[in-house]
Formats: sequence, C-alpha cells, structure tokens
Amino acid sequence: MSNVTVCVRFRPLSLKEKKVHGDSVCITCLDRESFIFKDEKEEDLPFCFDRVFYQDSAQADVYEFLALPIVQDTVKAINGTIITYGQTGAGKTYSMEGLGILDCDENKKGLLPRVVDGLFQCINSSPEDIKYAVKLSMVEIYMEKVRDLFDLSKDNVQIKENKSQGIILSGASEMPILNTEEALKCLSRGISNRAVGETQMNVSSSRSHCVYVFSVQRESAIDKRVKTGKLILVDLAGSEKVEKTGAEGKVLEEAKNINKSLSSLGNVINALTNGRGNHIPYRDSKLTRILQDALGGNSRTALLCCCSPSSSNASESLSTLRFGTRTKLIKTPPRTNTNDANDGKAFLLQVGDHQIENSSCE
Ligand code: ADP
Ligand code: MG
Repeated sequence: MSNVTVCVRFRPLSLKEKKVHGDSVCITCLDRESFIFKDEKEEDLPFCFDRVFYQDSAQADVYEFLALPIVQDTVKAINGTIITYGQTGAGKTYSMEGLGILDCDENKKGLLPRVVDGLFQCINSSPEDIKYAVKLSMVEIYMEKVRDLFDLSKDNVQIKENKSQGIILSGASEMPILNTEEALKCLSRGISNRAVGETQMNVSSSRSHCVYVFSVQRESAIDKRVKTGKLILVDLAGSEKVEKTGAEGKVLEEAKNINKSLSSLGNVINALTNGRGNHIPYRDSKLTRILQDALGGNSRTALLCCCSPSSSNASESLSTLRFGTRTKLIKTPPRTNTNDANDGKAFLLQVGDHQIENSSCE
C-alpha cells in the first residue's frame, strides 16, 4: 500500500466557464473512487484514486477522509503532511482555508480550521498524564526564498536538518497556541501578512507556496519522555504551464522558479517511485527540502489534487491527475517519532487545563 493517500476534488463549474464555454464537463462519475475523464482529443481515460470528491462534495467530507486520520496520528507523534495541488483557480485555497479563517460559515470551513479543531479535540480527550504543547509556524516560498509570515523581516529562513527533529525551518517564528480560537487568530494573522507582503512585492498568492507547520509536543508525566509530531499543510502555487500565460520579464522569471520547485517535486516523486533506490533530489528546491520527511517516509501524507471539471481546462486537469497517479506509486511506510526533543520543554504548557504563559496572537 502507498503511504500517500491521493484524492481528487472537482470544484463546481465557475460562472465564467459556464458563460464562455457552455457547461461542458469532462468527467463522468463511476463511483467514489473512479471516474472517466474526456481529454482534449475526446478520448475517454479511466482514473482511480483513494477518493474522488465531486462538484457537490462537502468540506467536512474532505476533512474526514483525508485529514482526520493524519490529525489523530500527529497527536501520537507520527508526522503528517497534507498538500493541495492544481492549476490556479482549481480550488486549492478553498479546500485549505475555506471562505476565510475567522467567522466562516460552518459548511464553508476548509481543512485548516477543521485540523485545528481536530488537534485540540484529540488533545483534550487524551489521558491526563500526558501534557501537550502546540506551536504554529507559517512560511511562504516565493522565488526560492522562504519568508516567515509571522515576521516579514525574516525573508530568508533557512531549512536545516536536525537529528531529533528532522527537517526544520531554522529561526522561523513559532507561535505557542493553546486552543482553537488562538490558532485561528494566528492563522488569520499569517494569511493577512501574506497578502501585505504580496502587495508590497506585487505578487499574486497563486505564485507562491504557503506552508503551515503545527508542531505537537507530548510529554508523559510518568517517564517524562517528550515526543513531537509535526503536521505540515501546503497550499501549492498554481501548477499551470508558463507558456500558456504568455509571461514575460519578472513574471516569466517567477513562473520558472515556481515551475522549478514544482518540477523538482515531480522529479523527487519519480525518483521515489522508480524503485531503483537511487539518489532522491530533495535538495533541488526549497519545497522538496521542506517536504523531505513527507515524501521520504517519515510522515503520513495526503495529496488533494484540485481540478476544474470544465472541458476548457481539460489539459491542465489531465496533468494534475497524472501527477496524482504518479504520487500514488510512492511506497515508504511512516515511522513513529522516538525523539526525546527536550530542547522545546519551555513550551510545555498544559493545554488541557488551559494554562498558558503568553501567546503573541492577540
Ligand atoms: P486556487 O487556490 O486553486 O487558485 P481557489 O481555491 O481560490 O483556487 O478557488 C477558485 C474559486 O473557486 C474561488 O472563488 C473559490 O471560492 C471557488 N471554489 C473552489 N473550490 C470550490 C468548491 N469546492 N465549491 C465551491 N466553490 C469553490
Ligand atoms: Mg490559492
């Protein structure tokens, strides 16, 4: 069995797709795992994934199938990763954030607020002799630079590898969070900072990758052992091809860089699936370096391939589906973290009893 769960989500046709192209849809549902895709040459291609979420799917269903098992494992110190992939406008951010982080209609809430809720539910129902501490970091990768979304002055965060913690964002802000409400405030702050930075640099969010890292530390009161589970969520930049956008100058440079990290992601996946046990080029891009644990086996990983159902986007959707199909071939079992990362002990505040010293997300 693959250790990467690969799901596909088709968003509803947009108004523009309906207006300009009629309501021609290129998929025929077979069941909740498979469908027939009509490509640009009108050929019928069958596809099968772990789960397919069709146009009328609920945000809660996506969370329950794809994220909940990973959230439950994070609390047990097994790393998890959830990635949204697809062309711009395919529904990555809708799936990840929903329609806003704060004050969002319950049905429209995306994965992030649900993940936060799920984490604290698991923590609060854990045995009393386990203490938890949750921290959140948020960074954006743009033009191969990693920027801290809680402190925009940190615009070149380094990615390092540490024996006990694996891949880390060295020096990036880590916000201690005690409950869902605080986490949502932090997320919302990071997301607004992203927009501020983008306006300053004249960049669209579809051009950068956004990475959310929840680190969940658990300490047993009995043997004092500390273990950490890391949950990484990644809202990737649009996967569309550069040529199509007619990009020039800075936009072209930018697109090449985005494609560099996305094509590095493709190369890493190919290297992991060709079974030759050869060198895996994680170091070729910031994105693949951050995802090294996620793809290399030290994580339970889920990929959500977001697609438009419209025939007018068939070629980009097909490339997204092929990316998903290749990713499904990765076979590396996840491990439980056995690290005794006592260096983070200062953060060990008891979440269940709601004691916290200070949180910087007011
Ligand atoms: P991306 O992040 O992939 O560029 P978005 O998530 O911003 O795309 O989605 C593009 C548009 O489609 C947004 O207006 C969003 O609200 C809408 N949309 C995406 N997915 C869905 C869905 N499953 N149901 C309803 N609307 C959606
Ligand atoms: Mg987006």
